Amino acid sequence: MVDKQAMREEAERLMREAMERKGIAVKQGDTRIVTKCGKCGAENKVKAPKGATRVKFTCKECNHAQVTL
Ligand SMILES: [Zn+2]
Repeated sequence: MVDKQAMREEAERLMREAMERKGIAVKQGDTRIVTKCGKCGAENKVKAPKGATRVKFTCKECNHAQVTL
C-alpha cells in the first residue's frame, strides 16, 4: 500500500533540501580550510577559492610556508 501522505512529505523534504543547497551555493565564495601546520602543528584557518584543495599558506605561529593537503 502506498502512503500518499508519506510520499508528499518526502517530496517536500527533497524540495527543501534542494533549495537549501541552492541557497548555500549562492552564498559560497571563498571557503575556509582549517589545517594543521606540518612543522609546528598549529591550526591555521586558510581562505581558499571555491573548490580549491591545495592552497598555499604561511603558518601564523612559525611562519613556515606550505600547502594544505
Ligand atoms: Zn607552524
